[in-house]
Amino acid sequence: MRILRTIPEVRDAVREARSAARSVGLVPTMGAFHEGHLSLMRAAKRQNDLVVVSLFVNPTQFAANEDLSTYPRDEDRDVALAEAEGVDILFAPAPAEIYPDGFATNIHIAGITEVLDGATRGPHHFDGVATVVAKLFGIVRPDVAYFGQKDAQQVLVVRRLVRDLDLDVRIEACPIVREPDGLAMSSRNVYLDADARAQATALNRALEAADAAHRAGERDGAGILSAARGVLAEAGIEVEYLELRDAQTLQSLTLVDRDALLLVAARVGAARLIDNHLLTGTTTADRKGA
Ligand code: AMP
Repeated sequence: MRILRTIPEVRDAVREARSAARSVGLVPTMGAFHEGHLSLMRAAKRQNDLVVVSLFVNPTQFAANEDLSTYPRDEDRDVALAEAEGVDILFAPAPAEIYPDGFATNIHIAGITEVLDGATRGPHHFDGVATVVAKLFGIVRPDVAYFGQKDAQQVLVVRRLVRDLDLDVRIEACPIVREPDGLAMSSRNVYLDADARAQATALNRALEAADAAHRAGERDGAGILSAARGVLAEAGIEVEYLELRDAQTLQSLTLVDRDALLLVAARVGAARLIDNHLLTGTTTADRKGA
C-alpha cells in the first residue's frame, strides 16, 4: 500500500491505473478505522481493481464548538488496518493540501442539508461534506465511491451532489455495521465511558421497537415514533431529534406509506451519536390484507 500526501501523487497513481483500464474505487473517511470503515474497503476491493482510501479529518464540516481537536486520530493503526484489507493507496493529506491559501469555494445543497443533522449541527456541516467530497472526486476521479448508510443523510447529500453537478461517479451505500449488542460502530464511540456505552445501546433498541411496530402494521408516524420514544425514555436518553422521513427526499412523514427512514441523534455521555433504520417492504398487516 502506498501512503500519499499530495494531490499530484494521487493523480499520477490513478492515471497509471486508468491507462491500464483498471477500475478505481474510493472510500472517503476521517480515519480511526473500525469494522464500518473496513466493510466499505472490502466492498471497494471486491468491485474495483484499484482501491483508494482517503483519510482526512475535514475541518470545514465541524462547528467551532465540536470535537475537531479531540477527534480520534491514529494513523499508524489505520495504515495497518487498511493494508490488511488490500487497499492500494491511502491518501492522507495535510489540511493545507486540501485547503491552500486563497481557497474560496463552498458547495451548498439546498433543502436536504437543512434538516436533521443540518439543523442540529448547523448549515456549515453538509457544506463542508459536499465541498470536500467534490474535491476528492475531482482528485481521485473514482468510478465508484463508497459511503455508509450509518450516515444516511450524508448518502442522500452526496447523491444529490453527483446528480446536480453531473459528476461521473457511482455512489454505493453500504449497510450499517453494528457491535454485537446493536450499537452502530462509530469513531466517536471511544468517547463513551462504561455507563454511557451501556446507555447507548438504547438507540438501536429504540429503532428496533419502531421497526417491530411497523412490521406489525402500524402506519401512523406518531405510533411508530412512540414505540421508539418509550425505549429511549426508559434509558434516560434525551434526543436531539427522532424523526420519520421519506427515504429519498427526507420530507417529514406523518403516515408511513412508502420507504421511510427513522433517524435519531442524541448526546450520550460525552458523545453525540446518530443512528437510523429503513422502514421498508410489506408489513404483517399488508400480507393479511393481500
Ligand atoms: P467517517 O470516518 O466517520 O467519516 O466515516 C467514513 C465512512 O464510513 C462514511 O461513509 C460513514 O458513513 C461510514 N461508516 C461509519 N460508520 C459506519 C458503520 N457503523 N457502518 C457502515 N459504515 C460506516
